[in-house]
Amino acid sequence: MQFDFNGKTAIVTGAGSGIGAAISRDLARFGATVVLADLDESGMATVAGEITSAGGKALTQRADTSAAADVERLVTFAVEQTGALHLLVNNAGIGGPAAPVGEYPLDGWHKVIDVNLNGVFYGMRYALPEIVKAGGGSVVNMASILGTVGFATASAYVAAKHAVVGLTKAAAIEYAKSNVRVNAIGPGFIATPLLDKNLDEATLGVIAGMHPVGRLGKAEEVSALACFLLSEQASFVTGSYHLVDGGYTAQ
Ligand code: NAP
Repeated sequence: MQFDFNGKTAIVTGAGSGIGAAISRDLARFGATVVLADLDESGMATVAGEITSAGGKALTQRADTSAAADVERLVTFAVEQTGALHLLVNNAGIGGPAAPVGEYPLDGWHKVIDVNLNGVFYGMRYALPEIVKAGGGSVVNMASILGTVGFATASAYVAAKHAVVGLTKAAAIEYAKSNVRVNAIGPGFIATPLLDKNLDEATLGVIAGMHPVGRLGKAEEVSALACFLLSEQASFVTGSYHLVDGGYTAQ
């Protein structure tokens, strides 16, 4: 697949690892100036280094997406450094505690909602006015298959990801006339550090088998869809939720 992001600036959150790193590398490969944002400064520096050694353009900014002031600063940084903002990937996310609803830790609930839902709102809250000023662009919000189906012991994650799908639809309707498209992606289980941090190897094997294709997805397979949605090739695609899940939700 070939895309043209020359002259475009993109913010990618959670860019120091997994899916966000893959999207950042691909956007840069296709010509975008990528502003990488993450809590993990060393992961982010590694990805930025890979991009610049390959001849691409990358800037980094530490930002906690669950803190509105950090996200506002991130958007200001991107615009000041590059002149305009066209593309936003609200990708940063965490797994959170595993427990049934009746025992779910309250602090864990708030943390997951803060990062996985409020962070996506803050991203759009501060970036959309700038994208409009630039004449339009595209936003991708990273939901999950758990934005459409449930998963035992992951209520906060499931609730946040369902909400991201709704938030995406509302924003898409509001900004369609301003030439900004807003879409959500629903990956199945993707082999990234997020899974390694939360699940043991035996559980990962079981989960891989829950996908009809019989394996976990790859970050690059999610990035291919994100790049399409961010590109001009997707000019009539907005307000939708797009699965990349090896058939998981077709069952
Ligand atoms: P990952 O490898 O853990 O990468 C996520 C990155 O986001 C990490 O560098 C993490 O830093 C960073 N981050 C976490 N909280 C942040 C915050 N508040 N502010 C800024 N950065 C923050 O995860 P991934 O698998 O690539 O997941 C990326 C997105 O895809 C998430 O939204 C996730 O929910 C979604 N997703 C993943 C899967 C999957 O199976 N992997 C499936 C569906 C959807 P730290 O390492 O320091 O926390």
